[in-house]
Amino acid sequence: MQIKAPRGTYDILPEQSIKWQWMEKIIKDTAGQFGYQEIRTPVFEHTELFERGVGETSDIVSKEMYTFQDKAGRSITLRPEATASCVRAFIEHGLYNGLLPVKWYYSGPMFRYDRPQTGRFRQFHQFGVEVFGSDNSLLDAEVIILMMEIFKGLGIKEPELHINSVGCPSCRPGHRQELIDYLTPLKDKLCKDCQQRYMTNPLRVLDCKNQSCHQTITGHPTIADSLCPACTRHYEQVREALSENGVAYIHDNNLVRGLDYYTNTAFEVHIPGLGAQSAIGGGGRYNGLVKECGGPDVPGIGFALGMERILLAMEASGRLIERSAALDVFIITMDDKFSRHALQLTNKIRQSGISADMDYNHRSPRAQMKFADKSNAKVVIMIGEEETEKGFYLVRNMQSREQYQIDQEDFIAKLQTILLKNEEEIG
Ligand SMILES: [Zn+2]
Ligand SMILES: [Zn+2]
Repeated sequence: MQIKAPRGTYDILPEQSIKWQWMEKIIKDTAGQFGYQEIRTPVFEHTELFERGVGETSDIVSKEMYTFQDKAGRSITLRPEATASCVRAFIEHGLYNGLLPVKWYYSGPMFRYDRPQTGRFRQFHQFGVEVFGSDNSLLDAEVIILMMEIFKGLGIKEPELHINSVGCPSCRPGHRQELIDYLTPLKDKLCKDCQQRYMTNPLRVLDCKNQSCHQTITGHPTIADSLCPACTRHYEQVREALSENGVAYIHDNNLVRGLDYYTNTAFEVHIPGLGAQSAIGGGGRYNGLVKECGGPDVPGIGFALGMERILLAMEASGRLIERSAALDVFIITMDDKFSRHALQLTNKIRQSGISADMDYNHRSPRAQMKFADKSNAKVVIMIGEEETEKGFYLVRNMQSREQYQIDQEDFIAKLQTILLKNEEEIG
């Protein structure tokens, strides 16, 4: 029987991975410019970490976790997101005693046991940042600016930034009670999920994906009306800093985020062209999370972006990412007996920093030329009887179709000149 990839997973083949590499490079370079450093955490953790760090009432923990028992009977979960893992690492290594804030970025696969549907996978990829150890509202602005710079770098057109404040432990309970009082008489009109959660987690009703819930609760009491003076000021400062840095935003009363640990600033980015699931990422401040996970009372903020969705957005923007894995040089032998010479030349070229390849399947010179063409080789070098006897190589520029006889003496330097000239002509 043929073995296939497990349901909800997929392979990233080379023609796609080149796009991934390009996307990752822009993302990581931008994060680096902002002074963020990479953290790599394990892909699995103790289940309890996510129960505490993501929130037991969230969909992620209650329905979507990839949880199993290992051979020693421990409950292990494949990470459904990376924030909890970063918090664990921050606490475990005692970094709260060091230089703060700590600014991290990560990227990699996440796992959710979701019903696979178009554009959603059980193994998917996220990029994100986490900052620990500062409550400064300017840092909220920086994190958002970084995210928007990434979209700019990737050529994503018109990302729509939604922001809100979700308050703090001193002002949220008031809003929560108002919301429960508001929802109670409406409860029969809500969807089944919302009927179950409006008492335990009324905020979740606000971002219910069900359209009729959405309509039922228009005019709900907003958190903006309940914010305490400190939260009001924090939110104002974030908005001012965004404006001062040329970042457009939409204040969104319905933006509450699905997770329990968010405080103050919450944000989300939508790409209008992406249809119903237009959100490609979001984040916010989570000042209570480090303590919730067993650490000291250290504030934090971060965001996560769905990388599959970023790729879709890049394609929707018409960004040219059809960058083929162009090879600099392909070496063609006129006869199999020159193939050992070809391997030596190939390696010499590679050692000089130029990419090179050759035929290993005893193809005819004609078939090798076709192969070189399909490999997008910029230059082809031919080795035959005459070349070996007279000590030169025949070099063909595949773009201009020009051919040169080039002395084997000092060949690499001359090859570099040809490739450089080629590059300039292409612009
Ligand atoms: Zn507050
Ligand atoms: Zn609902």
